[in-house]
Amino acid sequence: MPFCPNCSAKLASEDAAACWNCEASFSATSAWHPVASPPGEFRRFKRLVAPKKPPAAERGSPVHRSKARGVVEGVALAILGIFGAGVALLIWLFLNLCLICR
Ligand SMILES: [Zn+2]
Repeated sequence: MPFCPNCSAKLASEDAAACWNCEASFSATSAWHPVASPPGEFRRFKRLVAPKKPPAAERGSPVHRSKARGVVEGVALAILGIFGAGVALLIWLFLNLCLICR
């Protein structure tokens, strides 16, 4: 059974992409990788609704979904911000050109 090197949580499999508990990333570019034995005492980061349930299904969980929604909202806000800045710049340019023409 692999464990998280950060919080000592039991991981569902050795190729888990991230820790279900502390969200430590185990990707190829990450410094953290699942270890064979827990490095210390288990530290709980997430409050589990059903403590008996194994930490298996993280994909599609409400936490995962709300995170994805947060990313979408962030991108939408960024696009709105860029668009708003572009419009403001155009207005500013237009006003300045008019002042120069006069
Ligand atoms: Zn962890």
